[in-house]
Amino acid sequence: MVMNILKEKTKNNLNNEAVIFDFQKYSIHDGPGIRTIVFIKGCPLSCIWCSNPESQDMKPQVVFFEKNCIDCGKCISICPRSAIKKVSELKIIDRELCDSCGKCADGCPANAMRNCGRGFK
Ligand code: SF4
Ligand code: SF4
Repeated sequence: MVMNILKEKTKNNLNNEAVIFDFQKYSIHDGPGIRTIVFIKGCPLSCIWCSNPESQDMKPQVVFFEKNCIDCGKCISICPRSAIKKVSELKIIDRELCDSCGKCADGCPANAMRNCGRGFK
């Protein structure tokens, strides 16, 4: 069952790449020894308690860290697809419009928009 979901999720990954979104050094919890953990996108499970929901989509994405945002509006003006809207104090990313180009993250002066996921062969 899990393997079928994983195959379904990865079948469009024509580049045969692992999309990695984080490395965690000196991991000493939840397992034996001192480890380096590699976080790969495309988890097939979608648990409701997931502490890394950005792992569930196979593709790179931008993620928004509200507490870092200084509300400069640069991401909104940079986005070539008009995918970012300001709703109250929040920046909402329309995932239907966003193509994960990463320009908003590259241009954010406060590291509030971040690229999540990079392909490795
Ligand atoms: S560019 Fe960064 S700091 Fe400026 S509004 Fe967008 S998310 Fe906030
Ligand atoms: S990743 Fe690109 S398309 Fe998506 S919100 Fe940022 S600038 Fe817009």
